[in-house]
Amino acid sequence: MTRKMATIRKIDAINPIAGADAIEVATVGGWKVVVKKGEFTAGDLAVYCEIDSWIPTGLAPFLSKGKEPREYNGVKGERLRTVKLRGQVSQGLLLPTQTKEILHENLPFNISFIIVGDARHPVNEGEDVSELLGIRKWEAPIPAQLAGVMRGSFPSFIRKTDQERIQNLKKELEHWNTEYNTWEVTEKLDGSSMTVYFNNGVFGVCSRNIDLVRDENNAFWKTAISAGLEKMLTDHGANLALQGELVGEGIQGNPYGLTGQKFYLYNIFNIDQQEYLSPWAVRPWAILTGVLHVPLLEREMSLTGTTIDYLLDYAEGKSALNNNVEREGVVFKRNGQNYTSFKAISNKFLMGEK
Ligand code: AMP
Ligand code: MN
Repeated sequence: MTRKMATIRKIDAINPIAGADAIEVATVGGWKVVVKKGEFTAGDLAVYCEIDSWIPTGLAPFLSKGKEPREYNGVKGERLRTVKLRGQVSQGLLLPTQTKEILHENLPFNISFIIVGDARHPVNEGEDVSELLGIRKWEAPIPAQLAGVMRGSFPSFIRKTDQERIQNLKKELEHWNTEYNTWEVTEKLDGSSMTVYFNNGVFGVCSRNIDLVRDENNAFWKTAISAGLEKMLTDHGANLALQGELVGEGIQGNPYGLTGQKFYLYNIFNIDQQEYLSPWAVRPWAILTGVLHVPLLEREMSLTGTTIDYLLDYAEGKSALNNNVEREGVVFKRNGQNYTSFKAISNKFLMGEK
């Protein structure tokens, strides 16, 4: 799954901000975005760009605030961050679409479009317009000791690690509100995604997107060996993948101030069955093998009665790895059969990000 950075969305609501008269706050699904007063109306279709979008200067020159725009992958622009304006959290960017009423078989109907260069592109709700607008995801540069040499693309027999953000799961949460299931909640660690696997006799180590050539100077491989993951999976002999977060020195600025690097398990994927093990199976497995597990916050949480805003509040708190730092957020995994997961990132964390 690649993240859709810019999509056509309906504005759910426009509300005033206490004490502010030039700006107001738009709600788009679970996202809140501060906009200029009067620029949008509830019910409008607009282009919503998520945080971490790299916005080319031409689309929104005001983002550079009169300074020289920055550059990323050869494109001048700015990265969208989480900010607070007059006490209101604002995430992402809304750009207007144009709407025109036309007659079709004697019936008027509205068509919305966006203008790119000289061309008008008709758009529909839900459409991904990232490519059309030249909007890419900003990603932090990869330090040399993590980069590694590619042995192959990420194995097709495993799934890449990713979770959707709660702000994009409004409908799903309404459904989960009515479900009888419980959810495991773990701390989301701020490191780098790592997968080790054993499949039909072959052991491998992957970063988030690629399978890596064995190299003991590479942080992923080094940890896979030193944490005993290679030996364990090879001795065990079953076709399994362990997925976790590599954290520590040299990774994402080492927010927890650890010495060396550590692997914290959060998923086990059964390759033969092509499915994730339930959290109920993963935690005992970690205990039995002595593999570190991401910090556990709740074994069985119910989502009944929760809202997106409630879960975003809940996401805030100190890290279990270091009580002096804000945690990045939390990850929810459904217990029992029917595995699914999502993340709630702490806004407090995002606002403190450098
Ligand atoms: P993001 O870092 O925003 O791209 O979010 C997805 C990533 O969170 C996954 O690819 C994992 O590498 C990472 N992650 C960190 N902690 C956890 C956790 N407790 N459970 C699941 N994923 C986690
Ligand atoms: Mn991450």
